[in-house]
Amino acid sequence: MMNQLFPSPFPDETVYSWVCRFHFFAAHADFKRDTLRKLGIRDNRPANEFPPYLQKLSELSGVTLDQLIFCFTNAHYFQPFMDQIMYEEICERLKRGDTSSLQSRIGAVANRITPGQLLKYCPLCAEEDAQQFGTSYWHRSHQLVGVTACESHGIHLLSVKRNTKTPQLPPLSGCIHPSSLFEIRLSKLIQSEIFDNDVKWHKGDTYQAYYKRLGEMELLTQSGRIKQKQLKEYLIKHLDGMSELDYPYPLVFDAALNGKLSESMFYRATCNHQPIKHFVFISALFDSWGDFKQSANIEESKEKSPVTDQQQTLKSVNWHEGLKMISEGNSLRSTAHFLGTTVSTMKIKAQQNNLNIDLRPSKVTELVERAIWRKLVVGVKTQDIADEFNVSVGAVEKVLTKHVWLPELRKRIWYIEKQRFHTKRISDFIDEHPDSTRNDIRKKVRPSYYWLYKHEQELLYQLLPERVQAIYWPRKAKK
Ligand SMILES: [Zn+2]
Repeated sequence: MMNQLFPSPFPDETVYSWVCRFHFFAAHADFKRDTLRKLGIRDNRPANEFPPYLQKLSELSGVTLDQLIFCFTNAHYFQPFMDQIMYEEICERLKRGDTSSLQSRIGAVANRITPGQLLKYCPLCAEEDAQQFGTSYWHRSHQLVGVTACESHGIHLLSVKRNTKTPQLPPLSGCIHPSSLFEIRLSKLIQSEIFDNDVKWHKGDTYQAYYKRLGEMELLTQSGRIKQKQLKEYLIKHLDGMSELDYPYPLVFDAALNGKLSESMFYRATCNHQPIKHFVFISALFDSWGDFKQSANIEESKEKSPVTDQQQTLKSVNWHEGLKMISEGNSLRSTAHFLGTTVSTMKIKAQQNNLNIDLRPSKVTELVERAIWRKLVVGVKTQDIADEFNVSVGAVEKVLTKHVWLPELRKRIWYIEKQRFHTKRISDFIDEHPDSTRNDIRKKVRPSYYWLYKHEQELLYQLLPERVQAIYWPRKAKK
């Protein structure tokens, strides 16, 4: 049975992220007892890559199993590098919930390249998602092995360790490190693949593209065999720089250095090799995913892809409630947030129903843009700026994203504001209660105490009175 509190999925969201949002949205008390149990998970943790609970998830969310597998798991990441039988087996196992041995079945354990226990995120995407959707979430394309940079922001992805007991969403903070063009190119190649909806692509097509390109590069002998020595030299020259990237690139580069990368991929072509090896190989031989695909001569699939169906499923949102909220004067943004949909979808829906909505201009003049920029620099919230200049929040965000350093600066400003606020609350309390102990302060001004304890411990201890020395009375000796 569908659960009314199950939120609609966001674009490029992982299953785990979706489940975490369900937990928050439904205001469950306990992740394990309430949320995970609804999905039939009793003992193990919510797997990220190949979840065993898709059947239940499909029932709760109303999204079909095929769509779940295609749009929310990483099955598609492996598809172009597997034979059809194997891919179908993966899908079957995902449907049945029989996923415990999938990782080893596809060779990830043997080759020691797995997504690991880290959850990756882009701090700028997190910030933008929070503004657009009201919350940050885990992007599926960021979790893929080999994706170390955010394609849209050109910065390095950050990671947090997965906590298995409590639900987690990406933090709205983190350092911004620009990525090298080489790193961005590799991440982009992998992301192009996961967003490529051509469902009829298999290993045979991939190898066909390789041989065609190697032939064009004169790396094949007359009898069609690969000139391994020349190919090895070519790869080393083109993959230089990979050793400085994050895991797993140095591993793959080592394999290229000792010739194992190209040898194993062609001598043992019947095995299913890790996608990352293929991606590295493709990056050296082709300009882009499109170039590779063209070489394979893949015909665009005429069949309806599950992705377009997914857009249909988004309609499981309670529109009736949303339209009622808007007609009662709630803003598009807050209504969309409440329903778990996007502002633009909500807008279209309201317009279709002839509801009067406050449509503010999304384009701003240069003069207004300067004025908006000045407000952004001092940390004014985007919603407040939009209200002041009577433009849409989207227009303000557009100005914000023009300056890569701006989000980081604003975070810093907010941080300092918070620090000031909490410091003041503690010192005010001490002024009013000069005899209070550390324990009193901890109990009475709990949020501020813990905020400072977490972020500014040194400052906290400067504020606090001396620790009360515990006194142990000498015990009377037993007679
Ligand atoms: Zn990003």
